[in-house]
Amino acid sequence: PMPCTTQDVIAALCAGAKTITEHRDELVRLDRSIGDADHGENMDRGFRAVVAQLDSAPPETPAAALKLVGTTLISSVGGASGPLYGTAFLRAASALGETAELDGSVLVGALQAGMEGVEARGKAVTGDKTMIDALSPAVEAAKASAESGAGAATVLAAAADAAHTGAETTESLVARKGRASYLGERSAGHVDPGARSTALLLAAFAEAGEA
Ligand code: ADP
Ligand code: MG
Ligand code: MG
Repeated sequence: PMPCTTQDVIAALCAGAKTITEHRDELVRLDRSIGDADHGENMDRGFRAVVAQLDSAPPETPAAALKLVGTTLISSVGGASGPLYGTAFLRAASALGETAELDGSVLVGALQAGMEGVEARGKAVTGDKTMIDALSPAVEAAKASAESGAGAATVLAAAADAAHTGAETTESLVARKGRASYLGERSAGHVDPGARSTALLLAAFAEAGEA
């Protein structure tokens, strides 16, 4: 498999930002149903700031790129998703350490660390109707893929597929964390916006990896 370098990571992050902009209205709509209608704006603002930072101070390692994303999301996104995604990217950056090129197993370590950061910060578990319902199956699928010897791009594609399915399963769930939990049973029947944005980001990262 092709090595995944700092440039590849930056390209993937830009692809993620593009997808968030393209799906901004969809994320707003999902959050209007079970939240406060700002998830699309929050994510779009955050990732536009990320692209601006990547442009003005290009990072020199994959970890530095992910750290930049984490700090930028935490400082530019007001909603719950900013600190949660921010923590995920910071933890993923720490997991990478000085690694210059990502392979399948390094990627699994980063994804897992990111998910554990969200869990530590938000205390949600699988089934609570949050981004964890996309992240957790993504980590499991990534692990299985890496264990079979797959490279970074294939591992990411497996993670993205599983995140997509996981996000769809949130539709029938009753929310137990975040604003949507205020609705109780009425939160069922709508996909969780954060689970959807997680699936969108992983799909964009995976597609960038295939290019
Ligand atoms: P806010 O709810 O502050 O308006 P956003 O709308 O940007 O923030 O993000 C909402 C998303 O954040 C939810 O759809 C859910 O996926 C995620 N989320 C909220 N609380 C938690 C939590 N405790 N753990 C994990 N994810 C959470
Ligand atoms: Mg919201
Ligand atoms: Mg809000």
